[in-house]
Amino acid sequence: MIQITMPLNFLGTVYREIRQSLVDMGEMFDLLEQPSEISDKPGAPALRVDGGRVTLEDIEFGYDDERPILKGVSLDVAPGQTVAIVGPSGSGKSTIGRLLFRFYDVQGGALKIDGQDVRDVTQDSLHDAIGVVPQDTVLFNDTIRYNIAYGRDGATEEEVIAAARAAQIHDFIMRLPKGYDTAVGERGLKLSGGEKQRVGIARTLLKNPPILLLDEATSALDTETEREIQGALRRAGEGRTVLTIAHRLSTVADADRIIVLEDGRITESGTHARLLETRGRYWSLWQRQAAESDAA
Ligand code: ADP
Ligand code: MG
Repeated sequence: MIQITMPLNFLGTVYREIRQSLVDMGEMFDLLEQPSEISDKPGAPALRVDGGRVTLEDIEFGYDDERPILKGVSLDVAPGQTVAIVGPSGSGKSTIGRLLFRFYDVQGGALKIDGQDVRDVTQDSLHDAIGVVPQDTVLFNDTIRYNIAYGRDGATEEEVIAAARAAQIHDFIMRLPKGYDTAVGERGLKLSGGEKQRVGIARTLLKNPPILLLDEATSALDTETEREIQGALRRAGEGRTVLTIAHRLSTVADADRIIVLEDGRITESGTHARLLETRGRYWSLWQRQAAESDAA
């Protein structure tokens, strides 16, 4: 209680003092501002991608000083490997993705891509290297072509179609009366959750990123649709380094490695088969989900 009220009182005092001395409002906002935004180092070079190895070296991070979220996380994902991150909600899984994008800087350790610290390269080049398929793909009120082509400026028709094929949505599009010219989104054709995710996958594939980040990409879908999308996701991951965050364990069983994150620490790591043998945390999560799906 004391810890919380003290700074508030302090801020209140400062605020009153500023008011009293009629200091201009701009200064007050400076005082209360969040830490400065992430910016590129002067003269920072572009990231040079060579395979797309992702390395987390003893990462420590919290959104604020009071509450550490990642408490020394180390992980090495070799080029072309698929690593799945599982664990309870709130354990810090998505935070790892945000740090990879450098939406925040780590407080300890380092995060590297092909040996380059993400803090040392331009954010533009970093963002170019990573493709994301989020839980929910946002569609624009425009044609389906536009919605896929948005993945990369200046994409040709052939490239859009190739991406749609790889995402296993091309055949569906061709069956629509207006094909790629069909308007989608709020004011157009409403796509199902699975179709939307496929558009999202196509959009990401068009970008052709060496690194793919799937953050609960199928968790908004029913189990059957999820199963259908798995093929598209597997194909999307071919020849790329893939970090996949998953809620449903059935989707990560074939990953090269699965890590279990709990309360900001990696508590288990191994293949699906190995982790089941160990009969630890992964095994009990697996048992629980199996029971849940049996009940459903
Ligand atoms: P997961 O993806 O494993 O469910 P997250 O990485 O999203 O978990 O979040 C880890 C913890 O950090 C949670 O307790 C969450 O509430 C907290 N958190 C996430 N984003 C923020 C934020 N922007 N500011 C403060 N706390 C956050
Ligand atoms: Mg999350």
